[in-house]
Amino acid sequence: MGVVLLLASCGNLEAVDPSPACPPGVGRGTWSPDSRNGDGPRPGNNEVRRLLEDPNFGATPQAAGDLERGIVDRRLVAALATLTEKHRICVHAFKKGHYFLPGVPDGPRIPEGYGEAGGLPNTHYFGRAADVWWVDGKRVEGNATDPDVLKVGRLLAGIPPGERPDQVIGPPGWSRALGYGREEGWVLAPDQLRLHEDHIHIGFVDEPRTRNTR
Ligand SMILES: [Zn+2]
Repeated sequence: MGVVLLLASCGNLEAVDPSPACPPGVGRGTWSPDSRNGDGPRPGNNEVRRLLEDPNFGATPQAAGDLERGIVDRRLVAALATLTEKHRICVHAFKKGHYFLPGVPDGPRIPEGYGEAGGLPNTHYFGRAADVWWVDGKRVEGNATDPDVLKVGRLLAGIPPGERPDQVIGPPGWSRALGYGREEGWVLAPDQLRLHEDHIHIGFVDEPRTRNTR
């Protein structure tokens, strides 16, 4: 890990990332330049590579692996890159390691029992959703109205409609304070808000267009 950090910090000798985007123990999942050689997976394109190299971006090893394998929707990569221009963002899961219900493997559909969304397409499974559990080193849980956590919502809302996530779900207090609606891409079903007390879900319902109307 130390070697990875050292390599990642080349060109910026000021500091070795004093404030990683993910908390200790979660792991930054930073892409290692070494993986270009050998048999390791390669980030599929420049956008993915830039995100993985961005010190403001953190991910669990599983989430970083999904990026490296190229299964994450490019609109989602772009949205995360917009957020990391201003904030430290830690993604807990895209596809791998995502569970709606403990012990129940995820599939193409949301399992029955996960609120009223049971049976709907699972955007995580298709690489079109990210769960963000930490913003600027703060847990989303318990910090729903923290200015930085709210700013992430406003940055998302500022993305043009055709590129903006249209399945944004966060804690009830966060959603209330922001005041966005379905037109902007927010999901406000009470049961979904209750299921997102501890993270912000950033997703795209469909491939390839969004359902945003403004
Ligand atoms: Zn999610």
